[in-house]
Amino acid sequence: MTAFWTEPDYDDHELVQLVHDRKSGLTAIIAVHSSHLGPGAGGTRFWHYPDPKDAIRDALRLSRGMSYKNAMADLPMGGGKAVILADGDRTKNADMIAAFGDAVDALGGKYVTAEDVGITEADMVAVAERTKYVSGLPVEGEEAAGGDPGPFTAMGIYHGIKAAVRHKLGKDDVDGVHVAIQGTGSVGGGVARLLAKDGAKLTLSDINEDRVVALASELDAEAAAPDAIMGVSCDVFSPNALGAILDDEGIARLDAPIVAGGANNQLARTHHGARLAERGILYAPDYVINAGGIISVTMEYLCRTEGNPCDINEVRKRIAHIPGRLEQIWQESDSTGISPDMVADRMAQKLIGR
Ligand code: NAD
Repeated sequence: MTAFWTEPDYDDHELVQLVHDRKSGLTAIIAVHSSHLGPGAGGTRFWHYPDPKDAIRDALRLSRGMSYKNAMADLPMGGGKAVILADGDRTKNADMIAAFGDAVDALGGKYVTAEDVGITEADMVAVAERTKYVSGLPVEGEEAAGGDPGPFTAMGIYHGIKAAVRHKLGKDDVDGVHVAIQGTGSVGGGVARLLAKDGAKLTLSDINEDRVVALASELDAEAAAPDAIMGVSCDVFSPNALGAILDDEGIARLDAPIVAGGANNQLARTHHGARLAERGILYAPDYVINAGGIISVTMEYLCRTEGNPCDINEVRKRIAHIPGRLEQIWQESDSTGISPDMVADRMAQKLIGR
């Protein structure tokens, strides 16, 4: 492995391990950024990296992101991430997944894994046959924590949008508030349904035309073309599809006083948080508002391994704290003039003792 500690994304990570298993062909990197609040927790990505340096960068950057996200969600977990380096055909086999499970187990709980891009629930079930340090497993019954994180993520974003509307527009409900939603999949679709119940006016957009037409008709909402949604004149723009959409051009097109949505890594570059603030747009930091899913998945893990409460009400109770955290960020941003994304990063760093 190259000298990972010379990478710009290296941030005093506590552990960076290369895993290689000749028999199965597994090559993986496991990174733990911080275990200050608990074991390094974060998903495993199965991805083809033409340049292996990008795999190291992903493991470093994403594990730090998980430290911040778990800390801001008040979870007793640190930040970790694993990447499995796929070949060009993305061939995955059972021995590879088993070897990965053994590598996680060998760390003795320093790292707790879960699904991420390219890894299925079935893969995690196979990992769970080799180690108990795994979350995101299927659960039985609708009243249990865990299972599909999408609806829980949507619930947190719904609460976060209401908090943003209260903070920026001084309105206690979303009746008649116009929200433009980019992406109507698991998260965006869930947010749309919750807002529609409260009487919000919705404009929906998705590259999957059938999906957006069906949802618009179900909720009596407008549909907009994918290349038009960021310019819709509205009260809230809610990105729930792609990352890096808030770049110079995207921010210039926005015609909304609030950006609040679930997509990961919305800011193309760090300075775009300040750019939003300069335009007077209130931003809900993505990793704070979209933590509902990780809260549910973590509650499932702690219930299985530590005997913590694992009913859905505990998850709901914790998700209901997301607006309070956002309000704290916005108040500090208002009083210091520092953009909300930077305030959130600083709060997270303090929580993990950095
Ligand atoms: P999903 O695949 O269910 O939905 C994404 C939707 O976005 C799809 O319908 C897709 O067609 C649409 N889309 C893609 N490109 C688009 C574009 N250019 N314009 C409009 N629509 C577009 O995924 P999801 O689980 O709903 O996740 C959405 C986002 O939220 C992702 O960025 C994801 O990383 C993030 N996120 C998800 C969760 C979760 O619990 N699922 C948790 C945290 C963050």
